[in-house]
Amino acid sequence: MNSSDRSQRFLFEDHPIRGQHVTLEQSWKEIAQQGELEGRGLSLLGEALVVVALLVDTLKIDGSVTLQIRGTGPVELLVVEANSKHEVRGTARQVGKIEEQMDLQQIFGSDYLVITIKTESAEPHQGIAPLRGINLSDALEYYFATSEQLPTHFWLACDEKNASGILIQKLPGKLKDDDAWDRVLHLASTVTDDEMQRLALDDLLHRLFNEEIVRLFDPHAIKFSCSCSRERTAAMLLSLGKAEASEILEAEGEISVSCEFCSANYSFDQIDVEQVFSEGAVAPPSATTH
Ligand SMILES: [Zn+2]
Repeated sequence: MNSSDRSQRFLFEDHPIRGQHVTLEQSWKEIAQQGELEGRGLSLLGEALVVVALLVDTLKIDGSVTLQIRGTGPVELLVVEANSKHEVRGTARQVGKIEEQMDLQQIFGSDYLVITIKTESAEPHQGIAPLRGINLSDALEYYFATSEQLPTHFWLACDEKNASGILIQKLPGKLKDDDAWDRVLHLASTVTDDEMQRLALDDLLHRLFNEEIVRLFDPHAIKFSCSCSRERTAAMLLSLGKAEASEILEAEGEISVSCEFCSANYSFDQIDVEQVFSEGAVAPPSATTH
């Protein structure tokens, strides 16, 4: 596969341990250029994007995984999403300077992050994780260690050109030798950012775990794609309520909504708005020409 953006699973043949590797270049470039993020703010967005891309494939769900942090810190919002079609999108809003010694709680001005798992068949599942530590991997590992989930570790790396990461997870079942899990984690910890971001996965796994038998699965190509639409924006107008919608119309002449993930713009004039509220939905574009 030539795609610069991919997700690939691997499995330790002798132990109930699995892993996932994600590397993003083109999609990361498209997402990174939309915000006015810099330095650590930018790398937190890229790392969070890698986390949801890792999780959606590890959980093998038919749906999406969203990670969201809202607060009052220099980065007041971060939302990233990956779905089982291997599409990713994300955005973050930086409103202040991140000082060097700041931890996650200070950067976001919040003490938790929210992970939402949506599937076709079940109600959305929401997990709340304390924003512990300096790095996103600290907070996630704490979450996996303290909620009743499989032991899971993350290694994440991000710069302006590339966002990558590895997830290693212990599955239920007996290890061939008692040290296997600690040994795999120890070896994984020797990975460098550069190796995660630039090496082909078989080379990377050989470099890390050359004494273990690791099976590599076929990679999936990942791309940036936004799920926003005129219909979804209309649904948002409906939930806003007619009174508020009329108020905006009166003040602005139209209601213009920009998607914060992809900058797509959806505008509704008075006739559109009336239609939204009378039908409870928006008509297809051909019928809205007037
Ligand atoms: Zn969009």
